[in-house]
Amino acid sequence: MICLGIEGTAEKLGVGIVTSDGEILTNLTKHMPLKEGIHPREAAQHHAQNLKPLLEKALEKAGISLGEVDLIAFSRGPGLGPCLRVVAVAARTLALKYRLPILGVNHCVAHIEIGRLTTGAKDPLTVYASGGNTQVTAYVEGRYRVFGETLDIALGNCIDQFARELKLGAPGGPIVEKLARGGSYVELPYVVKGMDLSYSGLLTAAVKKATEASVADVCFSLQETAFAMLVEVAERALAHTEKEEVLIAGGVAVNKRLQEMLRTMCEEHGATFYAPPRDVLGDNGAMIAWLGLLSYASGARQRLEDTHVIQRWRTDEVEVLWR
Ligand code: AMP
Ligand code: MG
Repeated sequence: MICLGIEGTAEKLGVGIVTSDGEILTNLTKHMPLKEGIHPREAAQHHAQNLKPLLEKALEKAGISLGEVDLIAFSRGPGLGPCLRVVAVAARTLALKYRLPILGVNHCVAHIEIGRLTTGAKDPLTVYASGGNTQVTAYVEGRYRVFGETLDIALGNCIDQFARELKLGAPGGPIVEKLARGGSYVELPYVVKGMDLSYSGLLTAAVKKATEASVADVCFSLQETAFAMLVEVAERALAHTEKEEVLIAGGVAVNKRLQEMLRTMCEEHGATFYAPPRDVLGDNGAMIAWLGLLSYASGARQRLEDTHVIQRWRTDEVEVLWR
């Protein structure tokens, strides 16, 4: 079976084609150029304008035609409403035209499943940090349970907003990572509440700190503080769940320092650390296609009229039928 997956929850548009054996035939992502934050309507326009050429390129790269596709999957949520709707309309149109089954799938769960597929991790604690989400999850009794998450903004959003305030460029993650090299620690607020995280106070404090300390020092300290908070929550979740693997997901997980901190934590607990390849860490179409295939194989079906988008759709609301 071949599944075409379309991702478009935020500023990135992705088309991936995956077989039911887990072979990724193609995985193309188009990034919307960003100067400011993401404007939902502009991002939706970007997706609408770029989907057809991206889809054609993906099919060409995979060496197949739409007639050979067996299933259409799309990111149904969580995400920005206008973006989700563009992608859902495109997916429904393809499903109708080619008389194909369609499945809208959960974006966060897709991150976890593509990580399992590409790393071979079996039952990991997943640390998912992106522009819009920050969650520590693990599979327990039929669902990916959330053991800790941000109470306000996501980790990626915190770093991106910091970089924007200081006019360092966008997206901020890779820029701050580079600038942090050679920096030394200046104190910033470390906010972990129970098992949850709060990044908005840290953001405000870091921006303020940049008026008195060097950019390198603040970038370094922002990373150290924000990442240590996440690793602390992950560590307690690991001890509690007694999982033996830790998997990373999301665009922020590309960060070498975050990976290093998590790897160290894993070593101390005798857990195996898994980092998927870069092109499946951030938002991408292959993860949507793969979760579509897993869901379909386990019996999930959706009628066209039931494929409305779900802007707020928690990871732990999804019944995991394929495990
Ligand atoms: P995603 O939403 O999963 O595609 O991830 C996008 C987020 O990843 C944005 O907030 C980026 O700033 C962030 N990001 C990308 N590369 C890095 C990096 N090297 N370090 C930290 N964050 C990063
Ligand atoms: Mg994501």
